[in-house]
Amino acid sequence: MGSSTENFIQILKNAGVKPSIQRIKIYDFLWNNRTHPTIDSIFQVLVNEIPTLSKTTVYNTMKLFMEHQLVRMVTIDESEARFDVVTQFHGHFKCEVCGKLMDVEIENPVLVNQAKLDFEVSEAHYYLKGICNECNNN
Ligand SMILES: [Zn+2]
Ligand SMILES: [Zn+2]
Repeated sequence: MGSSTENFIQILKNAGVKPSIQRIKIYDFLWNNRTHPTIDSIFQVLVNEIPTLSKTTVYNTMKLFMEHQLVRMVTIDESEARFDVVTQFHGHFKCEVCGKLMDVEIENPVLVNQAKLDFEVSEAHYYLKGICNECNNN
């Protein structure tokens, strides 16, 4: 899939989201910055490009994107919600020194005694913490 504005408009439309300029820009940012940004960091970067942007708009947009399965919330730390444009199952590793959050490929863990469980899983999270290579070498 390409990363042109046309494509982002199509992705939003396919998900049932009306593609306003701000929504397209926010989705564009998430698509091209796979750092799992917070509301604050999305706002701080995009406000330079869209002076009329408010934190509330970013918050509401992320809420809308989540409702339409365009993004997932990553809450590896209770104190900060971060957002992920990759919605397929994968794990996350957070460096406890520099705070960097990285994607980790993981095969979907299997529940034990699944037959006994009377619920259906719609989301799974796999969180790892430690020290990244960069920090380990310093
Ligand atoms: Zn680190
Ligand atoms: Zn991720």
